[in-house]
Amino acid sequence: MKVLVCGGAGYIGSHTCVTLLEHGHDVVIFDNFSNSSQVVVDRIGELSGASVRFVRGDVRDQDALETLLADGVDAVIHFAALKDVSGSCQQPLVYFENNIVGTIALLHAMQSAGVKNLVFSSSATVYGEPEAVPITESAPLRATNPYGLTKLVMEQVIGELCKTDPEFSAILLRYFNPAGAHPSGHIGEDPNGAPSNLLPYVAQVAVGLRDRLDIFGNDYPTRDGTGVRDYIHVMDLADAHVKALQKLGQGGCVTLNLGAGRGHSVLEVVSAFECASGRRVPYQFVARRHGDVAEAWADPSRAEKILGWHAQYNLRRMCEDAWRWQSGHPNGYRS
Ligand code: NAD
Ligand code: UDP
Repeated sequence: MKVLVCGGAGYIGSHTCVTLLEHGHDVVIFDNFSNSSQVVVDRIGELSGASVRFVRGDVRDQDALETLLADGVDAVIHFAALKDVSGSCQQPLVYFENNIVGTIALLHAMQSAGVKNLVFSSSATVYGEPEAVPITESAPLRATNPYGLTKLVMEQVIGELCKTDPEFSAILLRYFNPAGAHPSGHIGEDPNGAPSNLLPYVAQVAVGLRDRLDIFGNDYPTRDGTGVRDYIHVMDLADAHVKALQKLGQGGCVTLNLGAGRGHSVLEVVSAFECASGRRVPYQFVARRHGDVAEAWADPSRAEKILGWHAQYNLRRMCEDAWRWQSGHPNGYRS
């Protein structure tokens, strides 16, 4: 298939592009580099051994997208979004504009060009504070911050489009906690400034960039008092996108959880990372982080049923791959 990958130079997009190219798909990456760079595109080419077409642009630029889509594109994978929860609380309008307006521009362009197949990056954040675990796709939805609201709105916008155009086919993928890196260690997560997510923070402590990890709360009703999440290897996510592409073309909107179906506590992550890296990860307990929930992990059985997909890699492997990337590139793509 010829696939337009919006946001394909980002963390999850870059791993997905390598996997798509390895499966023989023709990939066009469209990215404005607001959170990535040309180095990533070059590495995607090197790792896959395939030629990658890159176009620098913004998803809010409907005309640019229409031109690209008219060139025989079969499907779009839409990763392009701003994703920092605290950034979204400080600048909600910037997030609404980039994520929601960008998605609407993309959908308009797809309609004009007659491209009717879409895989969309959603997030477990749409579940807000879950009433029960494991979380199924039919659990109640609630936005607890502006970023989460953009995901909820975009899911609904895409859902409505599928209702009005029975030929439009969308798969909404709700990622749980993406982690790890490509096994080569050449691409990985490259946070801008201090990481807000656990795994990249732990990796930066292990490599010596930060003194210690602050663990947000040790008084949750969990097995060791720290928060429990469903970590999913970025290569498993990449594989799910390739499988999702094969399921498009039947019309309708399908929503799928992408998680391992198992939760790990913060202390379990620290211990797994120490094992994988052979380094100590000093930590201290601090107050709970506002908005955090005790436990969130997926019921991924619908993804297994519909895509024939399940997670292949465990937490240890996520830590090993994240460490290979972090230790080889202490300053991310700048090193
Ligand atoms: P990322 O920031 O690494 O990648 C996003 C890419 O999109 C970047 O390369 C950025 O430059 C690009 N981009 C952003 N706005 C753009 C615009 N207006 N036009 C063109 N390009 C634009 O993020 P990621 O971790 O790879 O996340 C990919 C998607 O998955 C996002 O939609 C994110 O909300 C979602 N998601 C991520 C996580 C996570 O923890 N990483 C969890 C759940 C969902
Ligand atoms: N966490 C932590 N210290 C950090 C970052 C995260 O203790 O510096 C905890 C957080 O409270 C949660 C888990 O690690 O229990 C995963 O947090 P992350 O931000 O990675 O994902 P999310 O909260 O979005 O699920």
